[in-house]
Amino acid sequence: MLTNSYQKALEHLDENKIIDLTKNLIAIPSYHGLAEPEKDISAYLYKYLAEEGFETEHVPVVGERKNVIAWHGPGRDNEKTLMLEGHMDTVDVKNMSVDPFSGEIKNGNIYGRGAVDMKGALAAMVGALTAIKSAGIPLEGRAYFAGVIDEERNYRGADYIAKNGPLTRYAIVGEPTELEIHNGHRGLIWIEVKVNGKYAHGGTPEKGINAIEKAGAIITEIITKLKPEIKKKSHPITGPSHLNLGYIKGGTQPSTVAGDCILQMDRRWLPDESQEGAVREIEAIISSLKENDPELDAEVTVIDDDMGIQFPPLVCEESSPLVNILKEASDKVINRHKTSYFPAWTDGSILSRDGGIETVVLGPGHLSSAHSEEEYCPVEEIINASKIYIYSILKICGQ
Ligand SMILES: [Zn+2]
Repeated sequence: MLTNSYQKALEHLDENKIIDLTKNLIAIPSYHGLAEPEKDISAYLYKYLAEEGFETEHVPVVGERKNVIAWHGPGRDNEKTLMLEGHMDTVDVKNMSVDPFSGEIKNGNIYGRGAVDMKGALAAMVGALTAIKSAGIPLEGRAYFAGVIDEERNYRGADYIAKNGPLTRYAIVGEPTELEIHNGHRGLIWIEVKVNGKYAHGGTPEKGINAIEKAGAIITEIITKLKPEIKKKSHPITGPSHLNLGYIKGGTQPSTVAGDCILQMDRRWLPDESQEGAVREIEAIISSLKENDPELDAEVTVIDDDMGIQFPPLVCEESSPLVNILKEASDKVINRHKTSYFPAWTDGSILSRDGGIETVVLGPGHLSSAHSEEEYCPVEEIINASKIYIYSILKICGQ
């Protein structure tokens, strides 16, 4: 039964239309830096899906920044619901070495900002739903497309869905995994340490307190004591714990005792760790240094904490039906499957934690190409993603 409807849907899969849609989405700027990054792309997708005959909703989330929701199927059984989710916003287009909006295809790859992160996936998702609809295959449950806003910042699009629906049983987030099944990822937090010293002339260092040297002591503790501990921690689904010292700035010029120094770090935390715990680790280092150095004055803060936003981990058990279905689908489409963890953060953790939706990340292209100066996505992977999505929809939402 499934094999028949899968074959039938493939006959209606219009590969050229998916490639054209990818191109058209790339051609519409939706980068952060624009006043309302997703305004135009979301209007385009909404119109496109309505013209394809889908039931649709255009949902304002922040001002004119709207999620696009479309669905197929009567939704008689909530166990048989699947959401294909992708974000419509991209990172900035500055410093790109290729035309960010051309969608040019070279050697089987489509280029431009958002090609891999994640307009190719959006097109693959729309193409999958369209193929099933135009093949006239009836569903028992319901398959949703959700194009959301603001993933690259504060995930307000996914947050809206988690709070207001549609709340499906399962979701696939199409971030680039090279079509691997990524059923988890780590949480993310950015931590800042601000070291306060005292400015003085470099010739009279005894009159000042050197914040760069104090920061150096903190860095040494992080490298020699904290990082080896973090390195020991790993989780079977989300992979290893990690801390990256990513940014440092301090002082004014060589002949002045540096009166301030700022360190910023990225901490990837596991389901059995916590955001608060990650902050406490750094605070503990400072407290212990202070015992021998009363001059040390440093504050620890969470960056971008003004909206109270947390970036939690995602976990979908390997035993989940969704993981098994994606294995089957991958075997069918690309003759292989691999499960792993997604190295970056996704909306999936919000859909899962706050919306109770079992979520897996699977999409076309390689993560390393995302945010890069030469962003591209292999066209063949976009088409294969579409086929994997078709198989998954039929298996989960079918009769
Ligand atoms: Zn992304």
